[in-house]
Amino acid sequence: MKRYVSLVTILIVVLFASSSFSAERMLEERKEVKNIIFMVPDGMGLADVTAARITKNGIDGASLSFETLERIGYQRTYSEDNTITDSAAAASAWACGEKFKNGEICLHSDGHLYKPTILELAKSSGKATGLVATSTITHATPAVFGAHVKSRSCEQEIARQYIEVTRPDVMLGGGLAKFTAAKPDKCGTAGNFIVEAMKEGYAVAYTKQDMDYAVSNGARRLLGLFNNSGMTPEYQRTPGITEPRLPEMTKAALDILERSEGGFFVMIEGSQIDWGNHANDLQYQTGETLAFDEAVKVVLDWINASPERKQHTLLIVVADHETGGFSVNGNEDGGVLGQFVPGWTSTGHTGVDTLIWSQGPGSKALGRAIDNTDIYRIMKEALKDEPEEHRK
Ligand SMILES: [Zn+2]
Repeated sequence: MKRYVSLVTILIVVLFASSSFSAERMLEERKEVKNIIFMVPDGMGLADVTAARITKNGIDGASLSFETLERIGYQRTYSEDNTITDSAAAASAWACGEKFKNGEICLHSDGHLYKPTILELAKSSGKATGLVATSTITHATPAVFGAHVKSRSCEQEIARQYIEVTRPDVMLGGGLAKFTAAKPDKCGTAGNFIVEAMKEGYAVAYTKQDMDYAVSNGARRLLGLFNNSGMTPEYQRTPGITEPRLPEMTKAALDILERSEGGFFVMIEGSQIDWGNHANDLQYQTGETLAFDEAVKVVLDWINASPERKQHTLLIVVADHETGGFSVNGNEDGGVLGQFVPGWTSTGHTGVDTLIWSQGPGSKALGRAIDNTDIYRIMKEALKDEPEEHRK
């Protein structure tokens, strides 16, 4: 009898604990995510933020746009085979939820089976999808969301998979040459994927003007390739340049993706903050950081334009890794307020954790110290918990 009573007590305790947990979960973690906007300032560390903010707004000036997001956390970045990750392994962890070796694009080079990417999952749940970058659109970070290849250098194979297999609705960036090459890449792929894209119903844009025309013309699929390689960085742009800027590509992508009844997933990358840091060049790095922040402002304006968007959009801003070991240096004895000496410890990547800024349904789990693979799990959960009325 005594044993029976204690079993009943345990059962009651367990039931009570699990019901209060699920009630709490329903109240606090009810996600209702219709749109996921995933923004990547490639290679940006906290010191880049400090430097860019001082440069733009002064030492005691306003915050940058991404600094105003509700939650702040940080993530570990190590890859499967290295303390210091590259962009391929780092972004594969987000897109596919596992550690990968440096260079791998959501495909383990030992060939074992892969899972669909978060973009593919979003697509199969009825969402429109998009990729925006200032590198080639087939570069490592965008690639992991729309392709599975053993090596990041197979950019033509990545282009082929975008057009023939994954078909994100919007792709905007550089890399025209990767879609038209006659000479095979490392994976043996060559071909004209632009002709194929047109057959698949994509509007194709080569200039900002083309892009704006496609948007105003009601396009639902858009391939914009504005440079043969990476796009012209901010500090080298001259008046009359035909390439759009990152905030303009961001606006175009949102204008098209919001035509989807079922919501959307989009990845938007400020790709060249990384390249500015590799070059240990403050002007390059700061110009790219501030352009990325303008893109965040475009996204926040879009979200804030309607309560429905605000309630149903998960926005995540996170760097894949830090580059250059950049710091804001100076001398505390005799320095000048508002001035600093830029310094780098490296021309490569570093292994330090990177910040995560986020807001919207499902963001609660991002406001803490996590691993980069956790971000995949959090986004996947957000896709799952969407209410029925948003599903097609
Ligand atoms: Zn890099």
